[in-house]
Amino acid sequence: MNVRPELPPIPFIDLAAQRRRLKPAVDVAVAKVLDHCQFVMGPEVRAFEAELAAFCGAKHVVTCASGTDALVLPLRAFGIGPGDAVICPSFTFCATAEVAVLVGATPVFVDVDPATFNIDARGIAGAVEAAKAAGLTPKAVIPVDLFGLAADHGAIAAAAAAHGLKIIDDAAQGFGAIYNNRRIGTFGHVTSTSFFPAKPLGCYGDGGAVMTDDAEIADLMRSIRVHGSGSDRYDNVRIGLASRLDTIQAAVLIEKLKIFPDEIEARNRVARRYAEALGDVTVVPTVPSGSTSVWAQYTIRLKAGTRDAFAAALKADGVPTAIYYPIPLHKQQAYKQFPVGKGGVANSEKLAAEVISLPMHPYLDEPMQGRIIDSVRRALKQ
Ligand SMILES: *Cc1c(COP(=O)(O)O)cnc(C)c1O
Repeated sequence: MNVRPELPPIPFIDLAAQRRRLKPAVDVAVAKVLDHCQFVMGPEVRAFEAELAAFCGAKHVVTCASGTDALVLPLRAFGIGPGDAVICPSFTFCATAEVAVLVGATPVFVDVDPATFNIDARGIAGAVEAAKAAGLTPKAVIPVDLFGLAADHGAIAAAAAAHGLKIIDDAAQGFGAIYNNRRIGTFGHVTSTSFFPAKPLGCYGDGGAVMTDDAEIADLMRSIRVHGSGSDRYDNVRIGLASRLDTIQAAVLIEKLKIFPDEIEARNRVARRYAEALGDVTVVPTVPSGSTSVWAQYTIRLKAGTRDAFAAALKADGVPTAIYYPIPLHKQQAYKQFPVGKGGVANSEKLAAEVISLPMHPYLDEPMQGRIIDSVRRALKQ
């Protein structure tokens, strides 16, 4: 069937729909910042940090310039650097491993569980072993709440404690999700998130935040985000960064946080419709009991070798798809020299060949999702 010309195009993520919903409130909030002119560390930044802390239950929130910096700040605060190993999954966005290299440490890759796409905590011991064999000191693990689903934080905490590792939860995609009836933000020693526009909680540019219950680490990160400042900005007690969340972005985020719970609900409605309509023809994502997902991506698994034809068939129907992630990090040019944990990363390789993500956002209405579902079913029956 050809796309009928009168049908609206299907966006992969529809930022414009949310913009229409929030336009009056955001325009007023941004205009206020333009008027008070405190563009850096203005009152909205502090207000947003307090609201984010209340939302996720963390004691301290330190906002910063990006999700990547939100991982660099805790690594620096923990004093992780040359000679140290940072364990992370191979099946993730590159920033998870990039930050280890940025602070001079070495990423060591561990495999993921194919059912959840998240780090398999059973691989952490083997990664520690590989790190030591390479002459490194294992210092931290960065689990990722991939595609919006909370990682298995109980098992990760146990493995990390057994090896004396700090846990930095990379919640760039999973912020807002729940594990064991608690919201992401208080698992591990710190939790990092990104406000890149396409993330479940995004702003209108770059931004990030780190959450922690540890007052000392929070203070260190506050210092590092402003050039390592001490008692005042011209007292430099350590090497830092220039990594602040713009006041305008904080003003936008205050408005977005208000509708975030409602958007999470909407994403879950979309995910349920997909699961009901596609569960008999493809491998749909599963959510372990006690956990929730905020569905940063809705990722299905196809038989290896069929993905290109599947994507082309959907494209012909006007349905966009995306592949997160086509190459696991241990196979990337920039990362292939780094160690892989004992036990290997076979699932990461398998998933990279099988996964494909369907349009997912809170404003995906039933008629439009119906078109996507029909197209997927047709393509899989060919
Ligand atoms: C997006 C993302 C980041 C980095 O966030 P930026 O704000 O783009 O720097 C880190 N980790 C994961 C898993 C991500 O998806």
